[in-house]
Amino acid sequence: MSARIIDGVALGKTIRQEVAAEVAALKGRGVVPGLAVVLVGENPASKAYVGSKEKACLEAGMHSVKVQRPETLPEADLLAIVDQLNHDPAIHGILVQLPLPKHINTEKVLLRINPAKDVDGFHPVNVGKLVIGDPTALRPCTPWGVIQMLLRNGIETRGANAVIIGRSTIVGKPMANLLIQTGPGGDATVTVCHSKTRDLPAVVRGADIVIAAIGKAEFVTADMVRPGATVIDVGINRVDDPSVPKGYRLVGDVAYGPVAEKAAAITPVPGGVGPMTIAMLMANTLQAMKQVV
Ligand code: NAD
Repeated sequence: MSARIIDGVALGKTIRQEVAAEVAALKGRGVVPGLAVVLVGENPASKAYVGSKEKACLEAGMHSVKVQRPETLPEADLLAIVDQLNHDPAIHGILVQLPLPKHINTEKVLLRINPAKDVDGFHPVNVGKLVIGDPTALRPCTPWGVIQMLLRNGIETRGANAVIIGRSTIVGKPMANLLIQTGPGGDATVTVCHSKTRDLPAVVRGADIVIAAIGKAEFVTADMVRPGATVIDVGINRVDDPSVPKGYRLVGDVAYGPVAEKAAAITPVPGGVGPMTIAMLMANTLQAMKQVV
């Protein structure tokens, strides 16, 4: 069997177009969603992410603000920037790009963001709302994007055994909380594996849906996957490849080729979960605006 490829580029585009259509309709009523992205320092990957977020925002017809400050920015100054954005009525979403420089307490900064503008969904208020199933929760973009991939590709989560590998606050934990909610895209029986899990391959072999978010290149091998399973690969890892000009290529947490032979559906890397994350950031910004105006 060769798996159906779940195309995150196409779906991400569809969702961004849906958001753009709603933004255009809202403009007629004189309201425009606004997203502020705050970047501290010169991390090249962060700069690239911020650039694509800004581009997606403008393409969706949203108001976009980029606040860029040097690596040496004192923590108090960053908190002041967050305060100012919290009070700016043209801004509905605030995203502070991580990682922050070491001298800044990330938790303190994330806690300072008004939960109503927390489009990353990392504030404890949104985490709590997600857990209790409050529909006004702003949900973390990456796992929320995975749910959209499952929903819009007709992959049944109801009653399914879903195994998540990784328990990070950004991916694994919110992924589990989304999949156990009642209703479409939820109702799954969820197991969360991590570095202390005993006989992880045996646990993963019981999965109808495998979600890998480990950060280890090609960790999930074909022998761990049940024939006919759906495999969602969140990982993005660089591996050396002297045969390409850049000297490296990107691979996921799943050994794509062999696993695709066994699975019923699989997401590629790149072109899978990655593009969904930005699409859901746009959707979250629109949601945040609609909840306050
Ligand atoms: P993280 O490092 O915070 O968490 C990794 C998790 O994997 C931990 O919970 C750990 O317990 C688990 N783990 C590590 N080694 C393990 C092992 N041997 N067996 C079982 N579990 C193990 O990472 P993260 O932020 O959740 O990101 C995971 C991956 O997803 C990374 O490759 C990251 O780049 C990628 N990512 C992609 C997107 C996207 O938009 N596609 C977004 C966020 C993260």
